[in-house]
Amino acid sequence: MTKKIFFGIITICLLSVAAVIIIVTAILYGSSAETAAAQARTDARLIASAVEKEGAAYFDTADISDDIRVTLIDSSGRVLFDSEEDAASMENHSDRSEVREALKNGEGSSSRYSRTIMKKTVNHAVRLSDGNIIRVSGAHTSLTAQLLKVLTPMLLTLALVVLFSALAASRVSRNIVKPINDIDLAHPHIKKSYSELAPLLEKLRSQNIKVTRQMDEIHSSREQFALMTESMTEGLIIADPKLNVLTCNSGAKRLLGAGSFTEGQSVYALNNSETFRRCLLNALGGRRSECILRTGDGQREVIASPANSIDTVCGLVVFIMDVTEKQELETMRREFTSNVSHELKTPLTTIYGTADMLANGMVKQEDVAQFGENIRSESERLINLINDIVSLSKLDEEDAAPRPNESVELYALAEEVLGRLKLSAEEKGVTTSLSGERVSLTGSRTILSEVLYNLCDNAIKYNVSGGKLEVKIAHIPQRAIITVSDTGMGIPKEHIGRIFERFYRVDKSRSRRIKGTGLGLSIVKHGVMYHNGTVRVESEAGRGTVFTVELPIEKKQ
Ligand code: ADP
Repeated sequence: MTKKIFFGIITICLLSVAAVIIIVTAILYGSSAETAAAQARTDARLIASAVEKEGAAYFDTADISDDIRVTLIDSSGRVLFDSEEDAASMENHSDRSEVREALKNGEGSSSRYSRTIMKKTVNHAVRLSDGNIIRVSGAHTSLTAQLLKVLTPMLLTLALVVLFSALAASRVSRNIVKPINDIDLAHPHIKKSYSELAPLLEKLRSQNIKVTRQMDEIHSSREQFALMTESMTEGLIIADPKLNVLTCNSGAKRLLGAGSFTEGQSVYALNNSETFRRCLLNALGGRRSECILRTGDGQREVIASPANSIDTVCGLVVFIMDVTEKQELETMRREFTSNVSHELKTPLTTIYGTADMLANGMVKQEDVAQFGENIRSESERLINLINDIVSLSKLDEEDAAPRPNESVELYALAEEVLGRLKLSAEEKGVTTSLSGERVSLTGSRTILSEVLYNLCDNAIKYNVSGGKLEVKIAHIPQRAIITVSDTGMGIPKEHIGRIFERFYRVDKSRSRRIKGTGLGLSIVKHGVMYHNGTVRVESEAGRGTVFTVELPIEKKQ
């Protein structure tokens, strides 16, 4: 814009100056032509009156100026005298218009252009009383010659005009454009700029307000969206069709185990496993796709759904959930079912086989008692197993059922449990002892009794002959501590983490000899959890085991 104004001003100045020069030249030319004609007329008349008086002798003495040419012509057109050329050699002048006019009217004038001298000749002729003609010719410069004459000063003037107009134009154009350049587009001030721009600036101002409001709305809905997705425990990723992440909450980063990640990166920067890639590519194909990912700290379920817009996938919405617990529970459920089936099948097969042999008379009379004992002991194993399963499923159910609020005194309960186990302790040769203080808590007597029974039963079963079982009941602020320690075979370190699992037995061959279902410690764990307590174990193979149960006195509902 500055350039346009600049060149516009310069052009106008140059054209104006050129026009002025041409007009002035033309006027000067016009006036010089008139002056020359008047001069020729005056000179012709003066010379004519002189010749009238003095006759042709006038030319002998007259001092004729170099600027004019004087010619004496007779009435037939023959040249009698010429101030510049030899009259005899000159052609007849009767055809000259000024001569003809003077012969006719007494005076005549004409003007002619001479290309050779680039001058215009102005002629004036006066008829003398003797019929001869005095003609005076004067020259005056042609327009072209005059223009050429003023060319140098004109060019100089033009150069000066160019210089000054350039300076002025640059200043003027800058001054014109400055208020436009000074407009603050974000906050246009209508009064500070040209009034012609007011409607435009007003429109700009209202558009700015509209854009700011829309930006605020987008910003706040983005913030709201981020707030909502950040509070989710699940992961959420929104990606474009090139799988660059548009939005990703921290849940997704955490669940996929991504360290540093910024939006805009490829979704594979979050997780690069083959399973994840396949799942996303399937979804990009237009089908909802699901997969289970195994990450360092668990298992994740990934659901990728394509976002469709008229037959094309314009992005992906990926939902990630932590299914570690669910998967573990599912595994446990499957294992539990297969373990239960197995554990039930083994004694039943023995019972069936033994009973079948007895029924078919295939057993010798002296072995009948042994076979009967086998059936009894396998049936006992079956009953114990069923009892344990029932206890566990009761605990599972009671987890959801309303809690009993009885007061249970632990020392008396331990006494009762040890009393029930007196016989088996004696059979094994294990000495039992109970010490500590009387502590009452609010909870379920049946469940606490099962917890104590299983711990003490194990302490006898997995003890050595002549070993010891000690039960201690202690009271610390707000908590009761039950310690069950034995001097038995202990539990090897590598098994300690698993003994609370359902059906887990440390050494299957060793356990074969010692009756058990593998469910006792699961019952202990669930019973303690039911009372919002904790159980921990310390053991050393060959030296003994200590189970410590900590229970809150007031059981939380
Ligand atoms: P089980 O019916 O086999 O006793 P539990 O769930 O009660 O099942 O115990 C799981 C396993 O933990 C047992 O098979 C045993 O190997 C081990 N265990 C439990 N208590 C003791 C203990 N006091 N001393 C040594 N091993 C023990």
